[in-house]
Amino acid sequence: MTDDQKWQVILSRDDHYDGVFFVGVKSTKIFCRPSCKSKRPLRKNVLFFENGKQAEQAGYRPCKRCRPDLLEYQPIKEIAEKVKLLFENHFTQQKELTKKIGQIGITYHRMVNIFKKYYGVTPKKYYDNLKIEEARKKLLETNDTIIDIAYSAGFQSLSAFYKFFKKNMNLSPSKYRKEKNYGIHS
Ligand SMILES: [Zn+2]
Repeated sequence: MTDDQKWQVILSRDDHYDGVFFVGVKSTKIFCRPSCKSKRPLRKNVLFFENGKQAEQAGYRPCKRCRPDLLEYQPIKEIAEKVKLLFENHFTQQKELTKKIGQIGITYHRMVNIFKKYYGVTPKKYYDNLKIEEARKKLLETNDTIIDIAYSAGFQSLSAFYKFFKKNMNLSPSKYRKEKNYGIHS
C-alpha cells in the first residue's frame, strides 16, 4: 500500500485495515488504528507504522479512544485464518480463490507475509499441498481417470497436472497409482 492509499483509508475510516497498518500523529505523538473515530489529523502531521511496536519505539503512545495496543495481533490472526480457510474451500477453483483473496483488502505481498509468519509456510506451498493431497487421495481411493482427477483438483490441463505432480512426488500420477496400489494388494 502506498501512503496515499493509506491516507484514503484514514479518510474513509475503513476498519478492514485495523492491524494492517497504524497511523501516528506527529503533533500529539499518539498513534491510532486507521479507523479511529477521533478528529482526523492533518495529512502533513501523519506518518504510518507497520505495527504498534514500531510506533512505540518511535516514541508514540497508543490512543486512548481506539486502543491500537489492544488490537495489534488479532487482525493479523484473523487475516491468516481467513486466507487459510479460503484456500481450503476454494483451492480447486483458482479464479474464485483469487477473487476472494482480493476482497480481503490487503496487498498480495502483505497477505504472503502474514500467512508465512502465522503458519510457517508460504501460501503457495500450502495451496500446492492441498492440491497434491486431493490428487493423491483420488488416485488411490477412486477409479476416476487421471484427466478427471486433474480437473477436479483444479488443474487447467493434464500436462500441467503431470508436471506439478511429478515435481512434488517424483513420480507421474499413473505410476504413483500403480505403485501404491500394488503395495496395498501385495
Ligand atoms: Zn485513536
